[in-house]
Amino acid sequence: MPAPQNAARRAALVKGASKAKIKALVDLSACTGCEVCIAVCPVPDCIEKFGDEPPNWGVYVNYDICIGCQLCSKDCPWDTIRMVPTGAVEGHTTSLDSQMARTHPVFENPLTVPESARTFIGKGPVTDPVVVNLFQKQNPGLPSK
Ligand code: SF4
Ligand code: SF4
Repeated sequence: MPAPQNAARRAALVKGASKAKIKALVDLSACTGCEVCIAVCPVPDCIEKFGDEPPNWGVYVNYDICIGCQLCSKDCPWDTIRMVPTGAVEGHTTSLDSQMARTHPVFENPLTVPESARTFIGKGPVTDPVVVNLFQKQNPGLPSK
């Protein structure tokens, strides 16, 4: 179990995470909400679940404290997390900002997630070819660009 966060611990995590060259991006279109990633992530509150039942639930990664350890991407039973270069998600607060499709119900009802995670509002789908290519290897069903 990761140790709980306090202000000092979070500040240290943010400092360390700022050096991470890769971040974990959850593809919401394939996430089942099984919470395995949350169980393995060593950083408290880095991956958060939202929604109370399918299809409204999912998880997102807080990029400011993701240290890029890859444990979640290795252990996700549904192979729906990819480690992407930090530069590819620059300016994004969470992996909700980095979705390649805006089909999940959370985009229709942003109140499902805390206010701090609603930074996706007004943004369009991610088209960065680095990100899209990483997920196409995993999920050939994704639309190509
Ligand atoms: S382990 Fe994978 S499928 Fe399960 S909640 Fe995390 S991202 Fe979603
Ligand atoms: S890469 Fe590591 S720190 Fe980042 S979300 Fe996955 S398990 Fe957590």
